[in-house]
Amino acid sequence: MFGFDRSAYLYVISGPMGCGKTEELIRQARRIEEYSKYDYQAFKPTKDTRYSEGFIESRTGDKISATMVRGAQGILTKLDRSVDFVIIDEGQFFNKRLIGIVNTLLRADKKVLLAGLDLDFRGNTFGPMGDLEALADEVDKRHAFCQYTDELGQKCGAVATRTQRLLNGKPALYSDPLVIPGDESESEEMGGGDIRKYCAVCIKHHIVPR
Ligand SMILES: [Zn+2]
Repeated sequence: MFGFDRSAYLYVISGPMGCGKTEELIRQARRIEEYSKYDYQAFKPTKDTRYSEGFIESRTGDKISATMVRGAQGILTKLDRSVDFVIIDEGQFFNKRLIGIVNTLLRADKKVLLAGLDLDFRGNTFGPMGDLEALADEVDKRHAFCQYTDELGQKCGAVATRTQRLLNGKPALYSDPLVIPGDESESEEMGGGDIRKYCAVCIKHHIVPR
């Protein structure tokens, strides 16, 4: 748990899909609003340039206002310099430039709270997340529960640390392109009626055929 009055501090919340990263980020934002004298500004990556203002929203529907940025540099250019806390969601979608940007924020004495998927569907470090975990003063590793169901309909339910990608109900191949939706949406329709889905699984049930 970070302290409000600490100077530069990086707190990283990471884990697989559905582990409550965004919920925790919003909970921390509410703590700042309620119990501290400080302000925060939240950022979220977007490909959609039509909106500069948006929300970080949890599965439960709670949300905080966020500045939408196309890339990591946007965090510096759109930053309100007077805020003490910088909140960043979906850290995995930024490229490695985010590492330098976070360092710049820390050197400017900001407290940074960042959430993201630590591993991609292949089980590899997702974008800048590994470096950010190394840089962090504190890492909050969260787990979900394995959603694998066997032939008899029995759920595994073990601690889930991986994100499984399914294409039409079958494990997606290692060579499948690396795109993944945010925590909010677990499935996406692709061309030709194909459905790509994501779920949290334990390491035993994380299957990525090569
Ligand atoms: Zn399992």
